[in-house]
Amino acid sequence: VDLVPYKTCTFDCVYCELGPTTCHTRMRRSYKPVDSLCVELRERLQQIEGEIDIITLAGSGEPTLNADLGAIIERIRGMTGRPLGILTNSSLLSDQAVRDALKPLDLVVPSLDAVSDRIFQRINRPVEGIGTEEILHGLIRLREEFTGEIWLEVLVCQDINDGESELARIKEAADSIHPDRIHINTVFRPPSVEGIRAVPQERLEEIAAFMGQKARAVGSACVRKGASAGSRSVRTRLTMLLQRRPCTMDDISIALCIARMEALKLVDQMVAEGAIERIEHQGTAYYRAPVPDKT
Ligand code: SF4
Repeated sequence: VDLVPYKTCTFDCVYCELGPTTCHTRMRRSYKPVDSLCVELRERLQQIEGEIDIITLAGSGEPTLNADLGAIIERIRGMTGRPLGILTNSSLLSDQAVRDALKPLDLVVPSLDAVSDRIFQRINRPVEGIGTEEILHGLIRLREEFTGEIWLEVLVCQDINDGESELARIKEAADSIHPDRIHINTVFRPPSVEGIRAVPQERLEEIAAFMGQKARAVGSACVRKGASAGSRSVRTRLTMLLQRRPCTMDDISIALCIARMEALKLVDQMVAEGAIERIEHQGTAYYRAPVPDKT
């Protein structure tokens, strides 16, 4: 569930798969009418509810910037018994109103890519006024108050936050946050800034081992089986998916729940028409769609 307009974020991460942040802000606002969001979600739930593992609040930026977060979570809770989670960059967790809004969730997946200010500025490029001290404070308070699961995510970029001293600081911070799990991730999709590189899989595993028993290196995609394509045309859903983030052919087939051959045919046709484009990143082909200009 996408809670903010494309690309509204407190950060402008160098590895962001969505492209550069166009609305760099820390101001929480009512970005979308709660009613229309809930109507759209209810419609989608009617199509696929039985096949959902978890409903994830996330989207084209930082979801906690949506000032209606608490009301939206409450409405979704009234609509379905499916587990509900959020992906957040942790920047607003020091705000009690944000932590209160998150309380009914089953899962919070907060990020922590750096602890030292210099590396934090380099990798996450936050809006002015956000620092690692307040982020750590917010994460520790979240753990004290939140009864659901917390899966801390650390995204490691080569030659930025993969040095031993920074990883030791992240480990120390993670130990004080007490998450249920720690996911060590890297740059799997084309990044916002050219030249940002993933760490190799073996190094990712090494870092996960260093972080302790709760940590594991995570992959780029998880596989869901048996879902139906739903009523919205596959072409429209593909465009919407590729406007959100670049995807591989496998990502497309999994996300749209269609056979790989079917995905291949559709993608070829849309590339030929110029509706989407093919790009290469570290030897893998990705597809992306232009984001419509809303001005
Ligand atoms: S990766 Fe997430 S936190 Fe970073 S700029 Fe992109 S949307 Fe914002």
